Amino acid sequence: MKNIVSFLFLFIFVFSSQAQSQVVSSKQNDNPKLVVGIVVDQMRYDYLTRFYNKYGEGGFKRMINEGYNCKNNHFNYVPTYTGPGHTSVYTGATPKYHGIIGNNWYDKELKKSVYCAGDETVQSVGTTDIAGQMSPHRMKTTTFADENRLFTQMRGKTIGVALKDRGAILPAGHTANAAYWFHGKDEGNWISSTFYIKELPKWVLNFNKKKSVASYFKEWNTYYDISTYTESGSDLNNFEGGFKGKETATFPYDLEALKKQNGNYEILKISAYGNDITTDFALAAIEGEQLGEDNYTDILTLSYSSSDYVGHNFGVNSKEVQDTYIRLDKNLERLFSYLDANIGKNQYTVFLTADHAAVDVPAYLQTVKIPAGYIDSKAQKNKFMEFVEAEYGTADLIENVSNNQVFLNRAKLKELDLDLDDVQNAIVNEIINYEHIDKAYTATTMSSTEFNSGIEALLQKGFNQKKSGDVIFVYDPAFISYSKTGSTHGSGLNYDTHVPLLFFGKGIKHGNTFQKTEITDIAPTMSALLGISFPNGAIGQPLEFVLE
Ligand code: ZN
Ligand code: ZN
Ligand code: ZN
Repeated sequence: MKNIVSFLFLFIFVFSSQAQSQVVSSKQNDNPKLVVGIVVDQMRYDYLTRFYNKYGEGGFKRMINEGYNCKNNHFNYVPTYTGPGHTSVYTGATPKYHGIIGNNWYDKELKKSVYCAGDETVQSVGTTDIAGQMSPHRMKTTTFADENRLFTQMRGKTIGVALKDRGAILPAGHTANAAYWFHGKDEGNWISSTFYIKELPKWVLNFNKKKSVASYFKEWNTYYDISTYTESGSDLNNFEGGFKGKETATFPYDLEALKKQNGNYEILKISAYGNDITTDFALAAIEGEQLGEDNYTDILTLSYSSSDYVGHNFGVNSKEVQDTYIRLDKNLERLFSYLDANIGKNQYTVFLTADHAAVDVPAYLQTVKIPAGYIDSKAQKNKFMEFVEAEYGTADLIENVSNNQVFLNRAKLKELDLDLDDVQNAIVNEIINYEHIDKAYTATTMSSTEFNSGIEALLQKGFNQKKSGDVIFVYDPAFISYSKTGSTHGSGLNYDTHVPLLFFGKGIKHGNTFQKTEITDIAPTMSALLGISFPNGAIGQPLEFVLE
């Protein structure tokens, strides 16, 4: 009898714990095995539509045809730079909250300019150069990859990959297993920092040892016959930078011959092949880290940086940019085919967006009569310093001018017994008269008035009360402080804010919308998909219509 009772108890125990573990594992099986977040550096929304007919079926088009296309997706803050962009995609927050207010900015406490991912307390891994002294320590909030790590008790992995350090580090977050970026110059290796790991894992060492990167020192010609590239401007024009040692910025480019004069491995970053190198490494990372192999969702944050370097050099209307996107499309196809074969179709989820877009080369816009031009920021600063000197007897009142912000010297203000508000207002009233300064606001206005729409709202979401300057100003549309060749970005205008947002794979509906979505909606959407906590500073909304 006793035996029967204990048998019965054992039976109930085994049965119920089995049922429990079934519940747990079936919940985990609902989630994708792998999430791949793709940020294409400097990708404008219209690259999807303008080059659409040149794309194959397996890349961008596959995401559009099988997944969800948010066609009216925008950055919701200024400044639209790479560091803030990557951070906002993954934190669902804006610089006001996550603290990455630029790529570089003047640090009021340290009294010097700092780099968004720079960290002198850590050491390089994989190089003796300082290029590895990086970490996400300046980012104040969590990314959705961090929340996935917390949710899975650190069992779900996070790996960050990009040519640019900030493109790899900020998305992967504070708890990443590792982030890897490319150190060009004379080395051409993928590196990391002691923030994550003491030494490079075997698969990275092997990847670097193979020297496959060097195989891209070859001719860069257009993927298809250049005469079919009717969606971009002529190859030879006055609006491109080009490479040292080649007279014209025209195809083909002999990268082997040009490398010596253009920073050796650095030239690969400014060619379409930089994205091939990134894909090569990303696939090696998926294999080497066994991403997507168990039931705990892993996250690969993947950023394609070469599109930005090419855009800066050749401009958004160039043949070089068009070819970079045609080749990037092939890389996406290669990535998705690999994921199908190795993780399984519908076992992974991908989203694709950008960290900002870019403006048409203003010198080109001028030729077609669109208001555009260049700011001589040095001359503007001199004029401004003369005003401060004349008004207050010393230009020392100005501590720094950077990222369209003026930082005042608080000690000097006190010494001269000046009122902060008065000085801020006087500066606004002065610089608003300058040619091509369109708007100017004081820090007090930014912190005391709630803006709900327009450029003021974008400035406010990019304005960090603790870190930003005392006066903030905005240039006229399509006016930039930049060379007369190539494109740049940073403003709150549509040419900089409108970027693609594509979702595809497990848990994603098929469809598209012109309803406005914001860059800060991505992280909450991915958190909702995974059933995990939202990043701790996220202000966006999950895009319900995207999710199954
Ligand atoms: Zn960027
Ligand atoms: Zn060209
Ligand atoms: Zn850029």
